[in-house]
Amino acid sequence: MLIKNVSVFTGKDFIKHGYVVVRGNNFDYVGGTEPEGNYDEIIDGNGRLLMPGFINAHTHIYSAFARGMALDYFNPSSFTELLEQLWWRLDRKLSLPEIELSAYIAAVESSESGVTSLIDHHSSPAEISGSLNTIARAVNDVGLRVDTCYEVSDRDGVKAAERGISENVSFFERRNEFKGAHFGLHAGFTLSDETLKKVSEASKGRIPIHVHVAEGPEDEESSLSRYGKRVVQRFYDYELLIPGSIFAHCIHVNDNELALIKERDVYVVVNAQSNINNGVGITFWPHFTERGVKVGIGNDGFGFNIANDIRFFILTPHHEKRDPKVSSTRDLLNTFFKSNAEIASRSFGINLGFIEPEYRADFIIVDYNSPTPINSENFSDHFFYGIIDNLKVIDVYVSGKPVVKHGKNITIDKEVLYSEARKIASSLWRKI
Ligand SMILES: [Zn+2]
Repeated sequence: MLIKNVSVFTGKDFIKHGYVVVRGNNFDYVGGTEPEGNYDEIIDGNGRLLMPGFINAHTHIYSAFARGMALDYFNPSSFTELLEQLWWRLDRKLSLPEIELSAYIAAVESSESGVTSLIDHHSSPAEISGSLNTIARAVNDVGLRVDTCYEVSDRDGVKAAERGISENVSFFERRNEFKGAHFGLHAGFTLSDETLKKVSEASKGRIPIHVHVAEGPEDEESSLSRYGKRVVQRFYDYELLIPGSIFAHCIHVNDNELALIKERDVYVVVNAQSNINNGVGITFWPHFTERGVKVGIGNDGFGFNIANDIRFFILTPHHEKRDPKVSSTRDLLNTFFKSNAEIASRSFGINLGFIEPEYRADFIIVDYNSPTPINSENFSDHFFYGIIDNLKVIDVYVSGKPVVKHGKNITIDKEVLYSEARKIASSLWRKI
């Protein structure tokens, strides 16, 4: 397939008049001159912009049914109470059909927002066994890649924790380039030493973990008071800082913890909108990247349009320090475009996230008619201030196959899906 009459952002550089060739599942050529050859399909990009498919590096697919949910009481005075009064009431009631529908919704909405890979963190204490494969089947059916894991914790007892451990291990054994896996852990403050020991024994140092770290201040406080050490040190001591692990948030970590994160090649994934919404502080990530820590961007299940979180990611450090110089749109090249691509490439075992030969052909075509000159030097400004300010995703391809055409997902009937989801949501909400 040859795509012409497009401008191209490769993930690093901008090509004004570009040509992209896809052969099989991979990019075969990208450049500014038309390549020789015969093609089974020639696509006219109509002057639009082709760029890598977006990767959401931390989300909660099961949050799909929380939208509009009324609660008979909600008056949290801490982050833990917020979890108890909202998220843990929802996830305890989820059954497999609801998990499956939430995955379809998340995948459809993600695809139409330009996301081609989701890194999910799942919880459903009443339905643990088989939950991860249910999610993966649905997301893959919609045409996207998903990495998922079960968030092990002690909050529902020893048996549930053990089932969560088994679910992570068995899903990891069946991973492929469309379904990736981490070892899911909820957070330090919901994990006893006994459970961490079991996780460490089950992982045997080979399954990177995906865990919430220091999201609320109480995670560090409880770790220090109960175990006499900070959250990251505790995971480190259980040999759980496995290269490629994802630590979501890290709002309240200190420099010693950052040094361990860097030493063990762990990614910090920032979710700025969710943090602001929950009132837990913000991750001052420029301090992390200065120290060589790799930082990616997720959205914590705050809708499924990652574009909004990209904007908050850049803006929150300015607000925090009252200084517009502490982060810039160019930081997106190292974080959203690079770290997120690395996380997905390692998880799915393929090259992802750049428009380059030998990379899987996951790409999007967006409608962006720039009123000012655009080039490699200022592309990140255009991306931040223009493209994602009014994101218009026209086409989405995963592994060279179309998933979204003319702004609509073509793999599933969205009206039928939403109609079924509204029925299920009403009965789910009655149970909560
Ligand atoms: Zn989360």
